[in-house]
Amino acid sequence: MVKMFCDQNYKFGVLPKKDGFMIRISLKPGYITSKQLNVIGYIARHYGEDKVHITSRQGVELKIKHEYLENAEKLLNDVGLKLGSTGKRIRQIKSCIGRECQNAIGDSLSLAEILHNEFEGIWVPKKLKINISACPNDCAWAKFCDVGIIFRYTMNINSMECSGCGRCEEFCEVGAIDWKNQIISKKCIGTGECLKLCGALYVKDKVISIYVGGKGGKFPKMGKHISDVKTEDEVVNIVDLIIEKYAKYGKKRVYDLIKNYNINTIEDIENI
Ligand code: SF4
Ligand code: SF4
Repeated sequence: MVKMFCDQNYKFGVLPKKDGFMIRISLKPGYITSKQLNVIGYIARHYGEDKVHITSRQGVELKIKHEYLENAEKLLNDVGLKLGSTGKRIRQIKSCIGRECQNAIGDSLSLAEILHNEFEGIWVPKKLKINISACPNDCAWAKFCDVGIIFRYTMNINSMECSGCGRCEEFCEVGAIDWKNQIISKKCIGTGECLKLCGALYVKDKVISIYVGGKGGKFPKMGKHISDVKTEDEVVNIVDLIIEKYAKYGKKRVYDLIKNYNINTIEDIENI
């Protein structure tokens, strides 16, 4: 019976192994409770090998004996956890620590939870990963996954405050500041680090940048920056659109869709 289960119909979140099942838990982004940790520990101790693996997507997976799958799933469900994040699906959303970090520009965890509740587990042609960083330091590697989301500032110079010393031009690592013409160019990645340098530089706005078609692995690619929006609702609508088009027209990863249809903007995605 176990063999039939493995060969023909293994479940979402369950990876058959020779001597058991590797079960993956689809965690809501950010935190798990001590009660949930206790249950995971109990399952590892009594049904598995007394250890768990922390995945690169901030998930948890552990190997258990075949006969304990049903029990393990019930215990996980009882504390609000579920199996998932495997196969051709929207995977568990990954986020940086967000507001707990001094550099945070937005609430990445709140947005991650919204996206997780809305999209996690939906079928797609291949896996689809969504990563979110609360500032351009990008600890969650948002630029190198299928859909990346980064909170950032847009900056400006107040010419009335500028004394023309030119220090900002040297300070800016990406060469975005043209102090002579009082311009911050599109090269600005929006960390706001220059705010510490000079009172003439100020935050014009906070935006949420969306990247699409990035990937890691053997041949990593950086996603394309397709849009800047202001609200979580706008992010949800754009992610929804990307998933819809990918589900309809994608064959490989999102990267290939973006390349094949020469996508550079959100309008290009709408017109696929
Ligand atoms: S991406 Fe930015 S806000 Fe998030 S943990 Fe890294 S430095 Fe902090
Ligand atoms: S913006 Fe500030 S740092 Fe830059 S040239 Fe003006 S005074 Fe100097």
